[in-house]
Amino acid sequence: MKRSILITALLLAACSGTRIAVDVGHSKLHPGATSSRGVSEFEFNSTLARVVAQELRREGATPILIGIDGKMDDLHARTPHAKGAKFYLSIHHDSSKDEYFSTWEWHGKKENYADQFSGFSLFVSRKNPYPEKSLECASAIGARLMKAGFAPSTYHADKVLGEGREWADEKHGVYWFDNLVVLKTATQPAALLEAGVIVNRKEEKMLSTDETRRKIASAVRAGLFDCKILP
Ligand SMILES: [Zn+2]
Repeated sequence: MKRSILITALLLAACSGTRIAVDVGHSKLHPGATSSRGVSEFEFNSTLARVVAQELRREGATPILIGIDGKMDDLHARTPHAKGAKFYLSIHHDSSKDEYFSTWEWHGKKENYADQFSGFSLFVSRKNPYPEKSLECASAIGARLMKAGFAPSTYHADKVLGEGREWADEKHGVYWFDNLVVLKTATQPAALLEAGVIVNRKEEKMLSTDETRRKIASAVRAGLFDCKILP
């Protein structure tokens, strides 16, 4: 009897699946940054978000993909879609200030690049209702990314190279970004992941591979497990 109750409980837990909001940064109309080979950030974000969702689904979680159709132009319209989610993860790819761009020719077209910038970054907001949990999870994801061989960026903390952002957890690449709309309007712990710098020509190439995307997705899933969002 006890055993059957346990099995039923386990089955229920497996079916219901923890809901995780996977937010695709930018839209088709406002595609964000442009990579050193002329690919839009939205394209990078949506491809990675699909792989993250796939990884979460495989682990029994229920991802809620927000903005995957590229039509989500209003930032404030995003977070209401995360109803019932235990965590909100916004997926982006990074660039640098325009003043650091150099140009080169790729497939006959002039493109911008800035190879001196690299690495992943995570952002959390003190205006989110759960800043501590947001930070705990962002740090956990950062730690898992580092374990998988990725290095955190540092330039966002620099006033000249970046925007002089305050570190939330320097060791794991986590910055405070209090006014980021999706982070402060989310009703659950939230973080924004800049998976890497797509204006860095070498890093862009690495970020374009399936293997890298799977590694990032796996680090996200493991990080959410470490901070006890995923069972
Ligand atoms: Zn972005």
